[in-house]
Amino acid sequence: MSLPSPYFTYEDQILKAGKVSLIEIARTVGTPAYVYSAQGFLDPITQLRKYLGKMDHLICFAMKANSNLSVLKLLNQVGVGMDLVSGGELHRASLLKTPADHLVFSGVGKTTREMSDALDYQGQGIYSFNIESMAELTTLNQVALEKGKKARVALRFNPDVDAKSHPYISTGLKKNKFGMNRNEILKIAASIRELQAIEFAGVSIHIGSQILTLAPIEQAFRKLRILINELNDILPKPLTFADLGGGLGVRYQNEKPPRLETYCNLIKKHFGIPKSSNQPPLKILIEPGRMISANAGILLTRVLFRKKRKDKDFLILDAGMNDLIRPALYQSYHHIAPLEKSLAQGKQKKTNVVGPVCESSDCFASSRPLPEKLKEGDLLAIFSSGAYGFTMANTYNSRPRPPEVLVEGEQYRVIRKRETYDDLTRGEAELIKQS
Ligand SMILES: *Cc1c(COP(=O)(O)O)cnc(C)c1O
Repeated sequence: MSLPSPYFTYEDQILKAGKVSLIEIARTVGTPAYVYSAQGFLDPITQLRKYLGKMDHLICFAMKANSNLSVLKLLNQVGVGMDLVSGGELHRASLLKTPADHLVFSGVGKTTREMSDALDYQGQGIYSFNIESMAELTTLNQVALEKGKKARVALRFNPDVDAKSHPYISTGLKKNKFGMNRNEILKIAASIRELQAIEFAGVSIHIGSQILTLAPIEQAFRKLRILINELNDILPKPLTFADLGGGLGVRYQNEKPPRLETYCNLIKKHFGIPKSSNQPPLKILIEPGRMISANAGILLTRVLFRKKRKDKDFLILDAGMNDLIRPALYQSYHHIAPLEKSLAQGKQKKTNVVGPVCESSDCFASSRPLPEKLKEGDLLAIFSSGAYGFTMANTYNSRPRPPEVLVEGEQYRVIRKRETYDDLTRGEAELIKQS
């Protein structure tokens, strides 16, 4: 199988991020460690921009996929906005001084404090609150009224289409907790004047993640287009933007994700031209996360032990489910390859690749054919770890979270330090001394 990411490839028998040897990074930074390729984040942005062309658009990176400040800074520098899902993510944006009109706030459960902070952001407030229920909308209205501010909102439409991805990452079915149906949205629109502090300016959708065919996306776009037209007939002012969410799949194993050009053409087809002359063109927002960052990152790890069994060995790594939880959480596939190409060849044996955490779900791959000669001390890369990797890391088993490293051209630098034992006990250790 070829490697799933073009940003981490063998050169002179060694796995490199561009020109930089991952063995060198492992030597200086230690393992486990996340390593990202700057080029890997930027290329998909360049492509999306090219294919969206002249269409008025804003790419809002879904920060929950990778929220390292240096990564976000890189994206901010090329004018990418952010899709936020918490006050903590808003704080990250504020540290970076991301422009207010480059921020949207999604999620089913925003607190009044989060609403208040987002309304105050840079004085003017963020570009859009993506609203998921009537209850949330009335609360936001209240919070904005008290401040004498106006909140621009998009209502999140649940188009009831099956994204055909993992159930945990499907969000566009009516049984899911996300969004509102057509009737709920039309009803809100009809009485929107009563919500004096709300500017209803857009609609949003997001039907799931790791979507590998465009059919459900097109179905959702078609339903959304119809809803926009219906809304424009009853709203005092036509909608000015549509937020089409994220969700495009990437290659982890042998998947064939939709081409970005085809995806962008679909956007242009449904939202490019106003349906009637009295409607202004819609500004299009998209919220890709995984598609930007998954294959821009790997997790570097070292084999601690090989535990031999008759027909299946265990390879025990120094990385665990606390560092990268996706396989344990979604049974997701991550390609695993040695940093020395010579170790990738030779007799294969079924292998369970596991971490040191005290849970049987702490398993990166089960019954994976891997070279039998891989042994204690060998370095491996766990591919496609740049999205929902570090951001989902935790300190279970009191394991400090790994560092993050960014490779830019021929340089690399640590962009998040490895956590220390003192980091782990901060907020606790002070308190035992007092008693
Ligand atoms: C998670 C999320 C995204 C990003 O999804 P990806 O599959 O990573 O592209 C975009 N929009 C919303 C509302 C989300 O919750």
